[in-house]
Amino acid sequence: MIRVELKRSHAGPVAAGHPWVFAQAVERTSGAPQDGDEVVVVDPSGKALGRGFWAQDSAISVRLLTRDAAQPLDAGFFAQRVRQAIAARRSIGLPRADTDGYRLIYAEGDGLAGVIADLYGDVVVLQLLTAGSERRAPMLVEALREALGPRSVLATGPQRGAQREMTRAPLFGDPAPALRFVERGLRFDLGAGAVQKTGYYFDQREHRAEVERLAPGLEVLDACSYVGGFALSAARGGARSVLALDSSEPALQLGRKLAQDNGLNVVDFRRADVRTELERMRAEGRQFDMVVFDPPKLVPTAKHLERGRRAYRKLNAHAIALTRPGGVLVTCSCSAAMTETEFSRMLALASGDARRELCVLRVGRQGPDHPLLPGFAEGSYLKTVFAIVR
Ligand code: SAH
Repeated sequence: MIRVELKRSHAGPVAAGHPWVFAQAVERTSGAPQDGDEVVVVDPSGKALGRGFWAQDSAISVRLLTRDAAQPLDAGFFAQRVRQAIAARRSIGLPRADTDGYRLIYAEGDGLAGVIADLYGDVVVLQLLTAGSERRAPMLVEALREALGPRSVLATGPQRGAQREMTRAPLFGDPAPALRFVERGLRFDLGAGAVQKTGYYFDQREHRAEVERLAPGLEVLDACSYVGGFALSAARGGARSVLALDSSEPALQLGRKLAQDNGLNVVDFRRADVRTELERMRAEGRQFDMVVFDPPKLVPTAKHLERGRRAYRKLNAHAIALTRPGGVLVTCSCSAAMTETEFSRMLALASGDARRELCVLRVGRQGPDHPLLPGFAEGSYLKTVFAIVR
């Protein structure tokens, strides 16, 4: 087994629980590990800190999967981690009669760095984020088959086309199953076609429930709606009207079908680029009682922070201006590189730009099917702020 020795100055965070070994933290390796090879990480005194997979040309050389350096990362390990992930979901009531779509494995938070798995009823869609996890796909599939007996296991592949829809490769079972699930009783049949990420964004489930509770009688804007997770919830909650905007035509088409399937006819799905449309509606004096704004990651990494912050500020100023006095703004950021403090500071500036005031009711995070490792701030990415706009 190749040993990866850390520099004295860099061993602290890893010893304290952080699961990433950055390239600059590596003092030496005992051999020449290949991309995806299993390695043991040790501190300068030779004390083992855990095991993970080596990543050759990555800024993160090793992501630890276990702190037990004697534990081989073999089929038995994967089977145990998968069973633990399933048990954790059961303990929070997933699946349940009204919800059988959720995140089954969330990488580091489930002790499976490099692996994301979303469950759509009886279909698992994987995102294998590292060479290490890609190479262990067969073990993972076997573990999932044993623990869950899914109809299919698919892996998302490279993005394709102008809308960056993901391709899906079959690893087991039915090669092109429709992604079908229920979320809080809403029925989603996404078909077998191209989609974003694994197919749906499960991290906002609890916030959609909150939007549904707030919705009776309201005129709602859902900006960056994707297939309408928030829009459909608002409609079921009794919204008077819902305008759902997205730039992706395939997402809008699915959204229209889902609205019909669920008998929620107040939703109007319209294609628009929020970078121009919010400003245009604002200039027109349009206003809504509730504005949900859930844009894609505008700060992909820390080095994009400055530009991303400006984009969030500008778009949020428009979203705030589009909210009627006394109305509710639900504004989100899925950029891990933008912390909650940063996001909140940006909102203060944006409300100043719009010459309005915000009264923040609560700040939500990703749901509990996206668990976290303590001390690993990178795992916490979603901020969803509910605020009254005055
Ligand atoms: N609110 C959704 C998830 C949104 S993900 C839900 O609850 O499921 C972000 C969405 O923003 C994607 O659907 C993407 O197509 C859309 N998007 C990206 N850039 C956009 C732009 N410039 N204008 C409008 N929509 C955009």
